Amino acid sequence: MGNGQKVNLWLDNWMRDDHSLMNHSTQQIIDTTLTVKDTLMDTGEWDINFLTANLPLTIVNQLVAIPAPKDTDGPDSLGWRGTNTRQFTVQSAYNLQRRDHMSIDGNWKSMWSWKGPHRIQTFMWIAAHECLLTNYRRSKWRSGISPTCPACGNEDETIIHVLRDCMHATQIWIRLVTSNHITNFFSLTCRDWIFYNMEGAHNKEWQTIFMVACWHLWTWRNKSIFEDDFRRPNNPTHVILKMAMKIDRCEQTHLNGWPRQKDTVFIGWKQPREGWIKLNCDGAHKSSMNLSGCGGLLRDNNDICLSSFARKIGSCDALHAEMWGMYIGMDLTTRKRITHLQVESDSKVLVDIVTGNCNVNENIPTLVRRIRDLTSMNWHVQINHTWREENKSADWLANYSLTLNSFDLHVLETPPRELQSLLFYDFSGTCMPRSVRLGF
Ligand SMILES: [Zn+2]
Repeated sequence: MGNGQKVNLWLDNWMRDDHSLMNHSTQQIIDTTLTVKDTLMDTGEWDINFLTANLPLTIVNQLVAIPAPKDTDGPDSLGWRGTNTRQFTVQSAYNLQRRDHMSIDGNWKSMWSWKGPHRIQTFMWIAAHECLLTNYRRSKWRSGISPTCPACGNEDETIIHVLRDCMHATQIWIRLVTSNHITNFFSLTCRDWIFYNMEGAHNKEWQTIFMVACWHLWTWRNKSIFEDDFRRPNNPTHVILKMAMKIDRCEQTHLNGWPRQKDTVFIGWKQPREGWIKLNCDGAHKSSMNLSGCGGLLRDNNDICLSSFARKIGSCDALHAEMWGMYIGMDLTTRKRITHLQVESDSKVLVDIVTGNCNVNENIPTLVRRIRDLTSMNWHVQINHTWREENKSADWLANYSLTLNSFDLHVLETPPRELQSLLFYDFSGTCMPRSVRLGF
C-alpha cells in the first residue's frame, strides 16, 4: 500500500496476513466503495471510532499497527495479491542478512571456535546437519516406527520439535530468551535457528547457553526413553545456566597461556557529542496480550530531557514495534529544529535494515521507507545500535505505552517518577556490568 487512495477498504487484501476485511465486518451492510484513505481522519490518523464500529477488536488492533497511509508514501501498487514475494517477514530479513554477510563456510566457524566440551560441539554439528536420530527420521527409514514425539505425543518428533517446539523445550527457552527476541527465536527454521543462535545473536555468552541447552534437551530426551527411573530436573534452566557459566569460566582460566580473552565492560547511557541531540527509541511486544507499543526520548549533552513519548501501537511483531519507535521519535524530532541527531536503538536488525547493511530489496516496509526519507532530509542523522542496558529509559517508555488506554501518541512533558529515577541513573553515569569476549 502506498497512499491508500486506490485500495478498497473492504474488498482488497491489503492487511499483513492477506485477508480482505469484508469477512470480518460486524455490520450487516457495508459501503464497498470506501478506500483505505477514506477511513482516515482529517489529522491523517486512523478513525478509531469508525473502525471499532465496523470491526472486531482483534482486527482493529492489527489494523492500527499498520502505518496510516500518507500522500508522501506514493501511489498504491496493486497486483501483489496472492504473491508471497511482496510480504515482508522478520524471517526473510534475517535470511537476507545472513546471505549477505556470511558464506556457508563461515557459518561453521562459530561452532568450531567455541571453547567448551567436545561432545557438545559434536552434538551441535550433527544437529546442524539435521542428522539427529529423532522418531520422525527413524520412521522414514523403517516402517512401523511412530514419528510422534514420545514426550508430548502432539506432533512429529523432528529436530526442531525436540530442541525448541516441544513443551519441555519451550518452557526452558521462554525463561532464557529475552522478551524482545522471543518472536524471532520461535519463527526461524531448524538450520537457520541453530546458526543464528550460534553466531551469538544476542551476545557471545548466548552461544554457550544455547549450545548447552540444546545438548541437555537431547540428553534428557534420550534418558527418558532409555532409562526407566530417569526424571527430568525440576529446574532445568538452572542446570543449563550453571553448566554454561562453568564452561565460560573455564575458558577464562585455561586458555593455554594466552592472555584472558574475556572481560567485563561497564556500559551505560552516554551523552551525545556536543551540539548533537540523542534519540533513544525502543519497541515493546507482549505476546500474551498480542499487543505492541513503543517509546523514546530526546536528550542533549547537558543531561536535559527535551521530550519523551509513548504510543500503544496495536498487534504487530517485535521488529515492527521497534520500527514504530524509531519512526515516531524521528518524526517528532523534525518539528524541533534540531540539526544534528544521533539515533540509538537496541535492535541490531532494525539498524541494519535502515542503514542499508541488510538488504531487503523491494520488500521495504513502509515505516523503514519513512525513516529513510527522514534521514535524507536536510540535517545530520546518525543511526547506531546500542546495548539494552544503554537503552533502559526508552525501554521503560515502550513498556509504559502498553498500559495506555488509547492509540494516541502521548508526548510526556514531565517524565513520570519511575522514569525520572532511570534518567537520574543515566545522567549520573551508572553502569551495568556486561561480560564480553575480546578479540576473536
Ligand atoms: Zn513433544
